[in-house]
Amino acid sequence: MTIYNLGSINIDHVYRLPALPRPGETLHAQSYAQGLGGKGANQSVAAARAGADVIHLGAMGAGDDWVPRRLAAAGVQTSAIARLPGLATGHAIILVDAAGENSIVLHGGANLALPAELARPAGLGRGDILLMQNETNLQAEAALHARRAGARVIYSAAPFSIAALREVLPHVSILAVNEIEARDTFAALGEDLPVEGLLITRGAEGAEFRDLRSGQAWHQPAFAVQAVDTTGAGDCFTGWFAAGLARGETPPDALRHAAAAAALQVTRKGAGDAMPDRAEVLAFLK
Ligand code: ATP
Repeated sequence: MTIYNLGSINIDHVYRLPALPRPGETLHAQSYAQGLGGKGANQSVAAARAGADVIHLGAMGAGDDWVPRRLAAAGVQTSAIARLPGLATGHAIILVDAAGENSIVLHGGANLALPAELARPAGLGRGDILLMQNETNLQAEAALHARRAGARVIYSAAPFSIAALREVLPHVSILAVNEIEARDTFAALGEDLPVEGLLITRGAEGAEFRDLRSGQAWHQPAFAVQAVDTTGAGDCFTGWFAAGLARGETPPDALRHAAAAAALQVTRKGAGDAMPDRAEVLAFLK
């Protein structure tokens, strides 16, 4: 079983400053770091480190060759990443002040211009998983194709948009949301959603999975750790949960592994670069 992940690839540029600049002000940053980000890339890395067979469906501008190299080093198959030389690679300019408060400028770039053929990936078929988030174009087309091909569709409804959710929901098998996204979804559509399963993560409160066909539900508490940076915790959890389902784990087993992975991930700085691998997670659970 393969996970095809239709998702964003971003470069995170992180600048630390004493204070966030006011309009018209120029400030020197105290430090600069560049990292791999984007919900799509984060989830691909998480799922691949979990041991899944992952093909990333995405796009970048020219250059930035370290990005696909880093994805490949994590075990992600990168040959379906389109290069669109006229466009910028998606990126985020992240300003962090002394108190940890941040301001972020996001530019979608190539992530919003995925070529149409990525919605019909060669090989995608029965038993496979199409994973998606809301940071690219082609979501509805890809989901429709995947369901017709007999694959399951896991949709992470973030960044949340009710319009995007309404469009893809008829083709979604499992909807993955955090607590706030769950509240917004229920407010707009009610709790009786037309999906097989619902994954809700609640930060340090843990997570739950509801099987909406059988009515069964499982709750997984978060593991107690000293969190340093929770950026990408949700992506870590979703990527690991998808990998668990791809290897045939039951929902409670997939939840437990995902919670352990996310607990390790929040103890490290960074997003895509902070995803733990299977050996680390199994050692943590011993
Ligand atoms: P983000 O947007 O930062 O990626 P999210 O809102 O999508 O996060 P959360 O619900 O905050 O996702 O977190 C996902 C999972 O990560 C939780 O269900 C939990 O298992 C784990 N997690 C998050 N914060 C902590 C924490 N402080 N300690 C332990 N585990 C945590």
